[in-house]
Amino acid sequence: MSYQLNEKIRGLTPYDPISGSYRIRLDANESFLDTAALLGDKVQQAVAKAALNRYPDPYAVRLVEKFSDYYHLDPQTVCAGNGSDELIGILVAAFMEKGDKLLTTAPDFSMYRFYASIYEDVNVIQQKNDALEIQVDALIDRCNREGAKMLVFSNPCNPTSLALKREEVLRLVKSVSALVVVDEAYMDFADSSLYSVLDCAGKEEYSNLVVLKTCSKALGCAGIRLGFTVSTLPVTNAVKAVKSPYNVNSVTQAIGEVLFGEPRLLDEGIRKLKDAREDLYRRILALQSRYPMILSVCRPQTNFVFLKIGAEDNGSSGAARLFQGLLDRSIAVRHMGDFLRISAGSPEENEALERAMDDILREMSC
Ligand SMILES: *Cc1c(COP(=O)(O)O)cnc(C)c1O
Repeated sequence: MSYQLNEKIRGLTPYDPISGSYRIRLDANESFLDTAALLGDKVQQAVAKAALNRYPDPYAVRLVEKFSDYYHLDPQTVCAGNGSDELIGILVAAFMEKGDKLLTTAPDFSMYRFYASIYEDVNVIQQKNDALEIQVDALIDRCNREGAKMLVFSNPCNPTSLALKREEVLRLVKSVSALVVVDEAYMDFADSSLYSVLDCAGKEEYSNLVVLKTCSKALGCAGIRLGFTVSTLPVTNAVKAVKSPYNVNSVTQAIGEVLFGEPRLLDEGIRKLKDAREDLYRRILALQSRYPMILSVCRPQTNFVFLKIGAEDNGSSGAARLFQGLLDRSIAVRHMGDFLRISAGSPEENEALERAMDDILREMSC
C-alpha cells in the first residue's frame, strides 16, 4: 500500500517565489540596502564570536533588549522568532483550537490563510471595499457576530500599501473579544504603530492585542530571518512557552544585536526607503497621466506601490502583459490579478522600471 497524504496537504505545492535571476528584483518588498553589509566588520566580528557548538539563547535576551531600546518597549512584552512567518504560525497553532474561526481581510497577506488551513481552523474572510480599505465598523461587527477567536491583518497592508489610523485600530481592538494580531511589517514607513500601548508589561487595557514586527523589510535583513511579537505579559509568556526552544539561531542573534545597536543607521535606511517609495510613486503617477491603462494607484504608506491595470482592447489582461514585458526586460515585480505590486528600488532601479513600463505601455497602446 502506498502512503496517502491527508486531504489538507494533498493539494499544496511548495512556496514558489519568482525564481531565476533577474537584473532588478522589485517583487518581494525587500530593502535595496543591505544593512548587515553596511555594518561590515562589526557584523563579521559578532558572528566570529558566536559559539556555534552551543545552543543559542532560547529567549535571545540581549537581542530583545536592544530591539526594545530601539522601539521604546518593555523587553518583557517581546518574543523573538525565526521571521514573523514563524510567529504567525505559532500564534495560529497555539491560540486557536481546531475548528475555531480565524477572521482575515481580503486582499491581505496570504500566510494568515495558509496557517489557518494547515491548523484546521475555519477561515472567515471580510472583503475590503472598492477603495481597498478596511471598514472598521463592518469588521468589528463581523468579528463579534462570527465569534472569531482571532483576527489578523497587516497595517499598513501588503498588498494594498494602505494603512488604518492608529485610533481606528485601537477602537477595533477594544471592541472585539478575539485576539487581534496586527502585523506591522511595514509600520516603519507609516506612523500608526500600536507599540506605545504595549510599552509596559502590566497594561491590561489591550490584553487581546499582539503586534508583529519583522527585520525583513524596512531594516534590510530578510536573509537573517528575524521577527518579533509584542504583546502583554501573559500572551508573551504563552508565545515563549509554545515556540520551539531554539528558534532564533546564534548567527541571527549576533547580527540582530549589532543591527539594533545602530539606531542612526536604521533611521537613515528607513528615510532612504521612504524617499525611494515617493520617487517610485511619482514615476508611476507620471506614467498614469500618459497611459489611461493604469486605472488607479494607491497612495502608498509602505515601500511598494500597488496599481490596477485595465484590460487591453482585445479583452486580455493588461497586468499580465505588463508583468511579462517587465520580466522579458529582466525586471521582476509581483502580479496579482488586475494589479501589480512593485517594490521601491534604488533611484537607478526605479528609473529603469519607469523606462521599461513606458516602452511596454506604449506598445500596448498602439
Ligand atoms: C514580508 C511580510 C512578512 C514576512 O516577514 P518575515 O519576517 O520575513 O517572515 C510578514 N507580514 C507581512 C505583511 C509581510 O509583507
